[in-house]
Amino acid sequence: MPNFVKKIDHIALVVDDIDEALAFWRDALGLPLSHMEDVPSEHSLVAFLPAKESEVELVEPTDEDSGVARFLRKRGPGMHHICFEVYDIEETMAHLRSQGIQLINEEPEIGTGGKKIAFIHPKSTKGVLVELYELTGEEPNIRLARARELAEQVRTSSQNAAASVRAAVSDYVRRLRNGDKNEED
Ligand code: ZN
Repeated sequence: MPNFVKKIDHIALVVDDIDEALAFWRDALGLPLSHMEDVPSEHSLVAFLPAKESEVELVEPTDEDSGVARFLRKRGPGMHHICFEVYDIEETMAHLRSQGIQLINEEPEIGTGGKKIAFIHPKSTKGVLVELYELTGEEPNIRLARARELAEQVRTSSQNAAASVRAAVSDYVRRLRNGDKNEED
């Protein structure tokens, strides 16, 4: 049996409000929030909550017409996709294709830091959108830089009180949503 999968990298959940979702995932369940990011190319705001070597990603659409926004309208909040880190994405895709599995991407897309991703059609997986992901050497450094950035946001805008940390994160989300438009005035 071939072994292509290294681990679950992340599970992506679509939410209508990241702040409200954090009340469960971070505050009640206790997953740490490593960073939040506005991803204009995906028309969404994304929060990353590591659970050991995997992550939960909360995705809130920032645009009515995006794919995630349509997903949310049609199916409500919930699981959007599961992502597996694979050893070799081209080899994995070639094998899946040879098994008659329907891929959404013909070739892997190259993301930030050179990481490679591709999606498998839910028709071939019994209804779950599956993402494949091949890590590159630069990716851990990029994640570390993002985590530092969020830590800095929290440190500079509050003391340790939980309420003010929450307020700082909410403020950070608001500024990401507004694309920092208001800061220039
Ligand atoms: Zn993903």
